[in-house]
Amino acid sequence: MTVVGLGLMGRALAAAFLRDGHPTTVWNRTPAKAGPLVAQGAEPAHSLRGAVAASPLVVVCVSDYAAVRGLLDLLGDLLHDRVLVNLTSGTSDQARETAERVARRGGAYLDGAVMAVPRAIGTADAVVLHSGPRWAFEAHEPVLRVLGAGTTYLGEDHGLSSLHDAALLGLMWSVVNGFLQGSALLGTAGVDAAAFTPFAGTLLATAADWLPTYARQVDDGAYPPFDATLDTQLAAIEHLVRESESLGVNAELPRLFRALADRAVAAGHGGSSYAAVVEQFRDPSEVRP
Ligand code: NAP
Repeated sequence: MTVVGLGLMGRALAAAFLRDGHPTTVWNRTPAKAGPLVAQGAEPAHSLRGAVAASPLVVVCVSDYAAVRGLLDLLGDLLHDRVLVNLTSGTSDQARETAERVARRGGAYLDGAVMAVPRAIGTADAVVLHSGPRWAFEAHEPVLRVLGAGTTYLGEDHGLSSLHDAALLGLMWSVVNGFLQGSALLGTAGVDAAAFTPFAGTLLATAADWLPTYARQVDDGAYPPFDATLDTQLAAIEHLVRESESLGVNAELPRLFRALADRAVAAGHGGSSYAAVVEQFRDPSEVRP
């Protein structure tokens, strides 16, 4: 296959293909970055068009979709009969728009999202999501699986990979910001973040156990309380807000939690489980903490 874009991630992708014994052509805007891969057996292409002509499967990983668009504009109808797998991060709109551009040039398009750091590529820890035509994924599945044990096909809608990427990033920042706010709170009493970490880990494992029940309630649109009611949770959130404010710790995050829960209670969900807050996230109007 061909790998276009040899930044930190592109180099890791190409190296994983090479380690697994796949003949790999590489191209990068700045040619010098191909050097170490060529030493590992990669074939350097002297032009982008030459790189795409070399293989039926072309994996692209560059900074953003503007860069992808610039590359596509240079290719004309060279994408005819090619499967382009774009592992550049972006939004679902950008993925769908790129799929149309590739289709107009006669190519097939899979949009992907890499949920891993470069050093994890090619290992059991790497999750790489794909969406687009099933036939295109299945035609190249064995080689795409080389990138990580968590290689997953999500469906025909090209936007699905980016959408999962966004949802998972939101979860990651929610968890990390919660940890950091808690660390700041404990720091006021001289408790360091390392001492907080085991408690945080236990809480995260417990919260992970709640998710299947929450998911069922979100999918059903019915939120019978299975642990505490939203009224009870709102009282606990109030403690967090007051504790933060009185200790001089930034309370923006707890105040956002309170605003969301307040609105859910005002909407009649005081006796529901916390999962009822999903309705506040579906409402695009801004919450004022
Ligand atoms: P990077 O190290 O900064 O590399 C960026 C690559 O994009 C380079 O090959 C660069 O070429 C190329 N590029 C940028 N603008 C270009 C243009 N206009 N035309 C042609 N090539 C262009 O970034 P990276 O870490 O490899 O990330 C690449 C993508 O993977 C991003 O979308 C990122 O969000 C995603 N990703 C990265 C990670 C990670 O941990 N690194 C994890 C998940 C997803 P030059 O070498 O010529 O500048």
